[in-house]
Amino acid sequence: MRIDLHTHSDRSDGTLSPAELVGAAARAGLDVVAITDHDCFAGWAEAIRAGREHGVKVLRGVEVSTRFRGASVHLLGYLPDPAYEPLTAELDAILAGRNDRMPQIVGRLQDLGIAITEADVAAVSGEAAASGRPHVADALVGLGVVTSRDEAFARYLGPSGPAYVDRYAAGLERMIELIREAGGVSVVAHPWGRYEHRGLDAEGFAELRALGLDGIEVDHQDHDAPTRDRLRALATDLDLIVTGSSDFHGAGKVGHELGCNTTAPEQLEHLLDAARRHAAASGRGVSAFEGI
Ligand code: AMP
Ligand code: ZN
Ligand code: FE
Ligand code: FE
Repeated sequence: MRIDLHTHSDRSDGTLSPAELVGAAARAGLDVVAITDHDCFAGWAEAIRAGREHGVKVLRGVEVSTRFRGASVHLLGYLPDPAYEPLTAELDAILAGRNDRMPQIVGRLQDLGIAITEADVAAVSGEAAASGRPHVADALVGLGVVTSRDEAFARYLGPSGPAYVDRYAAGLERMIELIREAGGVSVVAHPWGRYEHRGLDAEGFAELRALGLDGIEVDHQDHDAPTRDRLRALATDLDLIVTGSSDFHGAGKVGHELGCNTTAPEQLEHLLDAARRHAAASGRGVSAFEGI
């Protein structure tokens, strides 16, 4: 069983449609793929339909932008009830924050003398419910200002870049609660990855565990081998689920091919058990693999 629990479609900043993503997952030999677009559920229905066609089990997920002790943390949520209003309200606030900052980012680039407009960004983020800096990067590539997303982040869009603009993020503690109340399972994405991660030490994870955190994404391209070993030990100590995944973005992120990291079948079983427990406790959440 090959299981990849973190991928993005063009409903956020990936480059494949949900159906193309699932088709690519089938060709990559995956049995289970989670679709985890940023801050939205917009790709689920299409991905599930494609999963039936290709014989791939599609796990419904989301990657939520949160903040913990002043730092940005990405939280993966699996199998939440998409009709749980307190959760959708918070996701809507994040999406509004994404949209609100776009004119500011474009304005800063214009101040730098770059002839970019909001329409250029809208043209490349066509199907996306969650717009983001990667779309600005694609627009800059289209205009010939840079040659890749990476170069756009390095020169303009990264946290210390001249066109960086902060945006609203949910509180991590609250988001863990919301996902659980929605009958879902929460896993911290790439906790010791390329971004700052103050707060996410053993004590921080213990605190989050007490609030209801279910797991840690250990096997991720942003973690080298010693980092994975230390995180795995920490997860084992705290009895947290261990996941592994590609964080695939189509052509949008190099070195993140589907299935480049995978989740062990028994860890997926733990995740599905947790979802069943949370769904029973909250009266929300639905079966893991609908229609398969
Ligand atoms: P945003 O969601 O607008 O804050 O943009 C952050 C997203 O951009 C992350 O989730 C990554 O997927 C992506 N990203 C960050 N750094 C890079 C990079 N150097 N090259 C390509 N994509 C990146
Ligand atoms: Zn992304
Ligand atoms: Fe992430
Ligand atoms: Fe991601």
